Amino acid sequence: MLMSNLYGRLVVVRNTQAQALQTKYPQLQVQAAIKDNYCQRCYAQIMKAWQLPNGHRYCGRCLQFGRVTTQDILVSVPEPNRFPPFENWQWSGQLTAAQMQVVAEINHHQHHHLVWAVTGAGKTEMLFPIIAQALANKQRICIAAPRIDVILEIAPRIVAVFPNIPLVVLYGQAEEPYHYTQLVICTTHQLLNFTAAFDLLVIDEIDAFPFVNNPLLKHTPKRALKATGRLIGLTATPTVRHLLQFQKRSYLPARFHGHPLPRINVRQVSKWRQLINTQQLPALLTKYLQQNKHQCLIFVPTIRETKILEHIIQRHFKTLAIMSVSAQDLQRTEKVQLMRQRKIQYLITTTILERGVTLPDIDVIILGADHPNFTSRSLLQIAGRVGRKISRPTGLVLAIVSQPSWQVLVAQLTIKWLNHQANKGVKHEL
Ligand SMILES: [Zn+2]
Repeated sequence: MLMSNLYGRLVVVRNTQAQALQTKYPQLQVQAAIKDNYCQRCYAQIMKAWQLPNGHRYCGRCLQFGRVTTQDILVSVPEPNRFPPFENWQWSGQLTAAQMQVVAEINHHQHHHLVWAVTGAGKTEMLFPIIAQALANKQRICIAAPRIDVILEIAPRIVAVFPNIPLVVLYGQAEEPYHYTQLVICTTHQLLNFTAAFDLLVIDEIDAFPFVNNPLLKHTPKRALKATGRLIGLTATPTVRHLLQFQKRSYLPARFHGHPLPRINVRQVSKWRQLINTQQLPALLTKYLQQNKHQCLIFVPTIRETKILEHIIQRHFKTLAIMSVSAQDLQRTEKVQLMRQRKIQYLITTTILERGVTLPDIDVIILGADHPNFTSRSLLQIAGRVGRKISRPTGLVLAIVSQPSWQVLVAQLTIKWLNHQANKGVKHEL
């Protein structure tokens, strides 16, 4: 094992190996993997059932990261920040005045900071100068997000701007093995393998599943950060807890192109579910498909309905290029790629695509927007898919409901309020 691969990394070894490693690396920090009946990696209390045939216990909660048992030791070596001088970065874009203001607010202090920026505000662009400054200060940096889709979208953009900085991209099915780099891009789950590693940790979509309210990941950001490290949280739909948790906050209600967030149009079709169960389409959906103008993401509440709707539309409109996608779909990334390449016109989806997917010229239709699977925050995210590009800063957001819905109303009012705030001129400090 290379010593550099232990810098700020929490590695599980058998207790019989610890002695030899300690002799080899005197800086090695060791601790029992399970101590006083608590897992020291994920802090779960060890349950009685988590017992091996040999009588030793293991942690059942963080099992997906490899088993830790009472026979194991967690080892790491303190992060030395051994990085070459930072030379340059390549970005020809320009931040808006509002984005620059937020960057200045973040760089003004060294505390944790929450950025509440509406969808399409240009969060990733704002990170570039912040990352550049941290690199210049020889800091170790991690950009994390709850979902792989978001990671895969951010990583190439970071690589393009910082082509000379070695980085590693970590997620569950990643093929590239871990190695020590100044810049780490990973899912929030991967933070479980770090300890006092980062001077700067950015968590994008901090309010998203499976990070938010996940007991497995509750302590990971704090532990992955050094005692002097800082956390920057980015979100378009903060929870009240996040707003209270961060003392320093910035607020960006305006989209980068200056156009307002698209409003949610609501139409009530009481029997839409009965219709699709009898192989028919709501009239306004038929009308939209007949016009066949723009690409569209059609959101439905459940996986079952993605299949039903795909089948009906294919039957009624034989020439339309349409597919469906869900969390269970292994070809998810490929299908989104086909949308990007305009090889398909319509993609039917569950809430799995509510975030992280940016397509120009897109409309969205939410069939069954009053279903509990669509919260007001997820409706805000879905509406935020529309009008992202300056080439088409508007678009249709149509919510079809079977009955009036509180969550749709909250999303509508929030959009109205955010647009009002953006219109007033950007107010930064919350
Ligand atoms: Zn554990």
